[in-house]
Amino acid sequence: MGEASPLIGILVIGLGLAFVLGTIAQRFKLPPLIGYLLAGVAVGPFTPGFVADTGLTLQLADIGVILLMFGVGLHFSPKDLLAVKAIAIPGAMLQMLVITGLGVAAGYGFGWPLAQGLVFGLCLSVASTVVVMRALQDRRLMETERGHIAMGWLVVQDLLTVLVLVVLPPLAGLLKGEAVNIADLSASLGLTFAKLAVFAGLMLVIGRRVIPAILHYIAHTGSRELFRLAVLSVALGVAFVAAALFGVSIALGAFFAGMILAGSPLSQRAAEESLPLRDAFAVLFFVSVGMLFDPHVLVRQPVALAVTVLIVLGGGVAAYLLMRFLGVGARNARIALSLAQIGEFSFILADLGTGLGVLPPGARGLILGASILSILINPLLFAFVTRKAAPKAAAPEPAPLTPTLLNHHAVLVGYGRVGERIAQSLRGGGVELLVVEEGVGMGEKLAAHGHHHIIGNAVQEPVLRAANIAGARLLYVAIPENFEAGQIVQQARRANPDLVIVARAHFDAGVGHLMGLGANRVVMGEEEIANAMLHFAPE
Ligand code: AMP
Repeated sequence: MGEASPLIGILVIGLGLAFVLGTIAQRFKLPPLIGYLLAGVAVGPFTPGFVADTGLTLQLADIGVILLMFGVGLHFSPKDLLAVKAIAIPGAMLQMLVITGLGVAAGYGFGWPLAQGLVFGLCLSVASTVVVMRALQDRRLMETERGHIAMGWLVVQDLLTVLVLVVLPPLAGLLKGEAVNIADLSASLGLTFAKLAVFAGLMLVIGRRVIPAILHYIAHTGSRELFRLAVLSVALGVAFVAAALFGVSIALGAFFAGMILAGSPLSQRAAEESLPLRDAFAVLFFVSVGMLFDPHVLVRQPVALAVTVLIVLGGGVAAYLLMRFLGVGARNARIALSLAQIGEFSFILADLGTGLGVLPPGARGLILGASILSILINPLLFAFVTRKAAPKAAAPEPAPLTPTLLNHHAVLVGYGRVGERIAQSLRGGGVELLVVEEGVGMGEKLAAHGHHHIIGNAVQEPVLRAANIAGARLLYVAIPENFEAGQIVQQARRANPDLVIVARAHFDAGVGHLMGLGANRVVMGEEEIANAMLHFAPE
């Protein structure tokens, strides 16, 4: 490495290797995440060759955790969280109890004292929020009911784990059979709750007003760079303050920061601006997980490792049964299987437990091994979760299609910058309007604006059929993508020769393409912008 600093080493070799192995995984139709984990193992201290600085990598991974959780919060309003509380609170608590119990049993089998089995079980009982969130986001399940259930479940687990992290040090003496000072214990518990409450209160009362106001102000300066910087400062700043001053985990802090922005008009932009950085640092998170893994454990403790993995997978089964018991339908409850893995919180807990002497030295390796194996298995479980729901794992969940009763109506495809304006101008006119929009989260907005709508991709024939394109009078294709627009125009023309089709394009060639497929008029966006600008030219 010569003169290069350890930080540069991690960024260049860690990210570079993750890129290469991720691409290879992709080639073999495996999730790239597997490549990132293997890259981590390769640059980790347990394999020969280059060894990255573990401490530094973990710190960089923390930035990934913050940005991921912030992004998750942006799509998650407190309303969504409260809606699933009846399932998430009892469910997550019971699941943790069951897994901790299994951990105690396994510990007994390994010949560990009860207290050590207890801490071991606790480590196995928290799913990795980062892994689940990324998977939900990749599969666009974030805004579905099951996505909300999984998210609520994780938030409850995270909160409970924060509590465990706090009470473990004062309780360690008791667990080791020493006398413990009850007054000290209740004082530290009380302090934790008070800090959590103050943090949540501050965020809801002050943060909720101040943070959107700052972003709003910056957005109006028109500087993209400053806006990006503002988003980053908010995400990192709140997470840091949450952890440093309030003892809340950085993950939860960042989640709160995102959540108070959720639903504000700027949340979408904030999400887009933080996306590239988030992806890069999330990769480092997975690399860091791989680095901590000592592959020798596979040879040294195969049975114990297998038992540990089974307990973690059992967590998914337990969550499934509990969800069913709490009244979740069979299809939605399958999301429980996505919770069958452990990650960041388990490592933190394991480190703490080892340090306090309430976890046997070998347990940490088992926990890390089980984590990496369960994360590797996770995409397979997710494929099962999304089976039937969507043919391709990465496709959005198709909403049930209800055919419209409208006839002689106008159909508008796309409710973005262009479509929303069209819809607004048509309001109150003679023609009834039906909007077709593929954004999964757009249903609420369309309903709030009082538009008939169908959520789905208009390229798909059943969607156009449900929109009764054959009986429609007018079709506006207000989406920017020329190829998709062409497919829509072509199908609509085939279904309805008399339909008046007005489409949108952004290149001259696109105009010809759409006209050729049967559009009556194609508006070339840039041309209209130019005309409108010239209109204001000085005499
Ligand atoms: P904008 O470019 O801001 O006018 O946004 C275009 C809108 O069209 C977005 O809201 C997209 O979700 C939506 N959209 C793009 N392609 C399709 C499609 N094939 N079917 C339905 N909606 C679409």
